[in-house]
Amino acid sequence: MRLVKGSSNLLFHPIEFSYWAGILGIRALGWLLPMSRDEIYHLNLFTVAASLFTLAFFHWLIPRYGSRPWVNWLGAYGSVFLLASITPLLERYDIHSEILYMGVVASLGMRGGRRPARIAAGVAASTEVVTRILIDSISALNYPALVVNAAFILLVGFLVSELGNALYVAATEQERRNRHLSVLLKVGMLASQPQPLGETLSQIAEIIARDAPVTVCRILLLDAQEQNLITYGVYPLRPFKDAATSLESNFALNDLPEVQKILSQGEHRLFHQEEIAHLILDAKRTAFYFGGMNQICIFPLITKQKRLGVIVVGEARRIEREPCTQAKIDLMNALAAHVSQTIYNSLLFEDAQRQVGRMEMLNKVARAIGSTIEMDDLLELIYQQLSAAIPCDTYFVGLYDPEENVHDVRILVDEGVRFPPARVPVGSGLASWVLKNRQPLLVRHLSLESDRLLVQPIQVGQNRMSESWLGAPIAAGERYLGLLALASYTPNVFSEDDQSLLVSMASQAALALDNARQHAEVKEQARRDSLTGAYNHGYFLTLLSRSLEECRTQNAPLSLIMMDVDFFKYYNDLYGHLVGDEALRLLSQVVLCSLPKKAFLGRWGGEEFAIGLPGAAAEEAKELAQHIQTSLAQAELKIKNDERLANPTVSQGIAAFPLHADQADELVDSADRALYVAKSNGRNQIAVAP
Ligand code: GH3
Ligand code: MG
Ligand code: MG
Repeated sequence: MRLVKGSSNLLFHPIEFSYWAGILGIRALGWLLPMSRDEIYHLNLFTVAASLFTLAFFHWLIPRYGSRPWVNWLGAYGSVFLLASITPLLERYDIHSEILYMGVVASLGMRGGRRPARIAAGVAASTEVVTRILIDSISALNYPALVVNAAFILLVGFLVSELGNALYVAATEQERRNRHLSVLLKVGMLASQPQPLGETLSQIAEIIARDAPVTVCRILLLDAQEQNLITYGVYPLRPFKDAATSLESNFALNDLPEVQKILSQGEHRLFHQEEIAHLILDAKRTAFYFGGMNQICIFPLITKQKRLGVIVVGEARRIEREPCTQAKIDLMNALAAHVSQTIYNSLLFEDAQRQVGRMEMLNKVARAIGSTIEMDDLLELIYQQLSAAIPCDTYFVGLYDPEENVHDVRILVDEGVRFPPARVPVGSGLASWVLKNRQPLLVRHLSLESDRLLVQPIQVGQNRMSESWLGAPIAAGERYLGLLALASYTPNVFSEDDQSLLVSMASQAALALDNARQHAEVKEQARRDSLTGAYNHGYFLTLLSRSLEECRTQNAPLSLIMMDVDFFKYYNDLYGHLVGDEALRLLSQVVLCSLPKKAFLGRWGGEEFAIGLPGAAAEEAKELAQHIQTSLAQAELKIKNDERLANPTVSQGIAAFPLHADQADELVDSADRALYVAKSNGRNQIAVAP
């Protein structure tokens, strides 16, 4: 593991400074003390060696290998040996090497903490022994004194390392407190900033990493289903030159059993190097905490009993004094509480904004679909509002036809392609599920859920199976009018929010559709004659012209039957006008029952009727006329007292397009003349235009 150059330089800078000060101080003795040429030479040699060592150590070894243990040992031994090399020289002037050693120990204690200072003390004691052996001859050695001396150095070294450390803590405690306070303040200020949550959290991650400080900080939030942790903030994005940088941002909670435990217990946990391996499966480990950490501490984000996510901090530094100190953990716990509240508020705010957005959307939908009462326009508008509100692959707007028990899918748009209306029989499809249950249906992953729902999805539109499906019934009171449905070829596209939006839109649509249906009924009534139920003169002519043009484009024939009741004046005179009305009603009923699907009946005026027969040639029209003639003869006209009266008879004249006429008015004229022929042939007759 290699630290980035910048960060390690910063870490060693003060120690390096004390090295240079020490070298300069020792060299200065040569100017202050009356030394011989040899001694000056010895001093210069030391100065050069110590300078080279300092340069190599701080500017090559540390940047290249970081603070590995062997580097620390090398540093400690190197410095103590260098001091040992001038011990004989300085002792002549009563400057004892032990004092210099303690200087090194104190400096390391102050700058690097207990560990490097104790290493230096150990090194100093052993060096003292070696130096004595080298200076004095073995035979002249006073062994007990040597052991006492080494033990003394160790003891004093230990005390000095403690002292150095205590000095450091005292000197930096106020600074640390201020720094931690400023972290809390900065995070507090960020929390009140009106900006997206993701931005706030990535800034908070940066503040934590820089000012706590920690090597890495990652803030992850749980998704709505509490199944995945999603990275919202991470800092730094590239901490190490050779560490795998995490571009991955989502982690399944199931892969993180320790994190699950932390979330359910609601307490932070510190993992040391040997425990980190159990934190997450191997494959995901590097991505989760960037790899190479010595300590990982995970803080749960929980507020009002709601689990929101976690803050993960990692420490890669070894030389810095105790990376995850209690002070740092206390700070992080305070921050976690603060951040939880921020997230909670932001989620509430987002929720409120979504609600407002939805209300606005529904308002717009209501206004848009309230602007028309024509059914086809309305369906189109509903589709347009739907596609604007919830973008996806497929849209259905289906009306239910109870007579044939089918969904009349009037709007079907799939991947931007519009398909002709389709009549889908009610069966075991998804739309049928909505119809049968009268409930909205949200399918997140169809191929996984279709068995559970007991549905066999039907493919309409593009011949591909959708993966996400969302449908809501359109119902006016108890009456099921149809459904709105959306689909996507990607799984997990729709949310509960989409569902409630669709349900609201469906209830808007229900109102509008009911209005449109009533409007259509009124319009239909206005087109019909109140006595007989046949179309009135004007609408019959409109229908006739329209049908004629359709038949012309389709190269199909169209026949017209003109019909007049025989001796109706006499009939009225005989039975009275009310009975005459009843006879007209009976006649229209007989005709309406005999008409084929596309045919239409109109009351031309008085006791005269007309029948339009699109697609029928004169011969078929004649068959129908005969059928009407016999049906009418067989029909029973009863009035009060169940008295049976004689049925009226009719005369019928037939003309056909294109055989007898090319235009609607010519056709009426021809049929009229044929009717005249039928009358003059003795009435109750059928005549076809010549
Ligand atoms: P023809 O066989 O030549 O058609 O003899 P007709 O008596 O039917 O002669 P015409 O067509 O001139 O008579 C129409 C009569 O139909 C006049 C009117 O009293 C009667 N009539 C027209 N409209 C109605 C109606 O709505 N109700 C009743 N009861 N009678 C009507
Ligand atoms: Mg008449
Ligand atoms: Mg008549």
